[in-house]
Amino acid sequence: MVHERTYIMVKPDGVERGLVGEIIKRFENKGFQLIALELKTPTRQLLEQHYADLSSKPFFGGLMNYMTSGPVVAMVWSGKGVVKSGRVLLGETNPLASLPGTIRGDFCIDVGRNLCHGSDSVENAEKEIALWFPHGVISHTRVMEKLIYE
Ligand code: GDP
Ligand code: MG
Repeated sequence: MVHERTYIMVKPDGVERGLVGEIIKRFENKGFQLIALELKTPTRQLLEQHYADLSSKPFFGGLMNYMTSGPVVAMVWSGKGVVKSGRVLLGETNPLASLPGTIRGDFCIDVGRNLCHGSDSVENAEKEIALWFPHGVISHTRVMEKLIYE
């Protein structure tokens, strides 16, 4: 079965605070499949492309400084409804508006230090996957697929 894909990123604060495993665990526990992962220090140019739609916002400079402050963990996850469900697992953009049980609701406070990124639509997910993983992702059918999907 070919599933939807989303781009999920642990931002520099999440890596620095040692929350990579915790964030991965939540996607694994749900049943989604990890199909790409890279720890990397993104260039400002890559981040300007990634956040191009926010370039006119007053917080853009701060966002660039935050996102270039250290390595990030770039990932692609696959599964039924993974774009929308991934956003639910992350929580609201503003962590103070995020419910407990979500990543942002459980682990952070400020919108400018909100630990993680998740694509907001299937179309944007495919664009972000192409941007962060230009060489592609793995293709692997899990043995446990029948335990996750009806
Ligand atoms: P997301 O899709 O939930 O990550 O939110 P957006 O796409 O709207 O914004 C991208 C990122 O920019 C957010 O995750 C925040 O890190 C940052 N951001 C968004 N809005 C604000 C804001 O009002 N102030 C600051 N400082 N950062 C913001
Ligand atoms: Mg966004």
